[in-house]
Amino acid sequence: MPFTALTGGELLQPVILVVCDGLGDRPCPSLNNLTPLQAARTPSLDALASRGICGLQHTIGRGIRPGSDVSHLAIFGYDPAVYYPGRGVFEVLGIGMGIGKGDVALRANVGTLSQDGVILDRRAGRIESVAELVKGLDGKVIRGVTFIVKPGLSHRAGIIMRGKGLSDAITEQDPHVTGVAPLSVKPKDSSKEAEFTAKVLNEFLEFAAEHLASHPLNREREKKGLPPANVMLVRGASEFHPVEPIHKRFSLKSACVAGAPLYKGVAKYVGMDIVDVEGATGLPTSNLSAKFSKALELIKSYDLVFVHIKAADNLAEDGNAVGKRDFIERIDKAASALLKADDALVVFTADHSTPCTMKAHSGDPVPIMFAGNGVRPDSVKAFDEISCAQGGLGHLKALDIIPEILNITGRAKLYGA
Ligand code: ZN
Repeated sequence: MPFTALTGGELLQPVILVVCDGLGDRPCPSLNNLTPLQAARTPSLDALASRGICGLQHTIGRGIRPGSDVSHLAIFGYDPAVYYPGRGVFEVLGIGMGIGKGDVALRANVGTLSQDGVILDRRAGRIESVAELVKGLDGKVIRGVTFIVKPGLSHRAGIIMRGKGLSDAITEQDPHVTGVAPLSVKPKDSSKEAEFTAKVLNEFLEFAAEHLASHPLNREREKKGLPPANVMLVRGASEFHPVEPIHKRFSLKSACVAGAPLYKGVAKYVGMDIVDVEGATGLPTSNLSAKFSKALELIKSYDLVFVHIKAADNLAEDGNAVGKRDFIERIDKAASALLKADDALVVFTADHSTPCTMKAHSGDPVPIMFAGNGVRPDSVKAFDEISCAQGGLGHLKALDIIPEILNITGRAKLYGA
């Protein structure tokens, strides 16, 4: 591969790779038809853009609306067409569960079921934690398959099925809507593994429903007038196969600073060390300065530090253009710390656009910039979707980012003689 890194032990420029979720946008009527990035006051990002080289990034390809997990995998240099395991694996890794080869992972919600078996609420009134509720499910063995169940954030949980003869070729049990009954899990192919996995999982979900329905915590919730958390809704079945870690594949010893579990999960999957930062929550109030300070500290001992910032995406999914603009200004204030990181290459981008007018991910490209030693600065002076279109990087895909990093920082091996 032309981008295999040198391994001579040279001291090479470390990298801070910042991914702001859903940062890209389209003109917003509530912002005088500017994008939130254009409308926001962003002196730090603009100063970095002035020093650096900019462009537009089509994460997966032109016009493709990527999921965040697929985008991040590509940004880390792993082609999703080859390496994407499915969402369940990322979710369980993100909540810190250990997973082994051949395990099947699922993401779960604990929701509310009516007495006649209809889903009333997929999040049980956004219950704060399901830790107590899922305790009695953890370690359950059915037909030789062990179910490992751990709580995630609020109404979420992770499930790992461990045993012989499992497959992830099964349908979803979570219908993703309310007003209907949970679905029965079915095999997606004719293999005996898929049939066995579906059967065992259906039995587990029946057991889980009985366990949750009779849980004392639900009696208490009902007394308080809260919806009971009495049904486990599962989706995203995916089988785990380890991939070559990023420090071997690209000789980049890497760390992850993120609040939201999904991103920690993708980072963990490619072999990054997960570093928890107090106050990093993935919410609009997340402590962004603490994340950048931690990144600046970590580049002393890592080649690459990935920083994930979540909330712009959520604000855009709520259609809140003003909120997204204001959050970008918060990012910019915190990113002033990066201006002092003279000895690092700063790569700043997004995983996809989330236009506030769409309230969903779009296939529009996102701005990207590289600022640090080794870049050839272009004439772009502002970091936004429109200005970066004039940049020296032109248009690239997420899979180009790691090779560009290896090249700029002097890590790329000569291709050919
Ligand atoms: Zn995203």
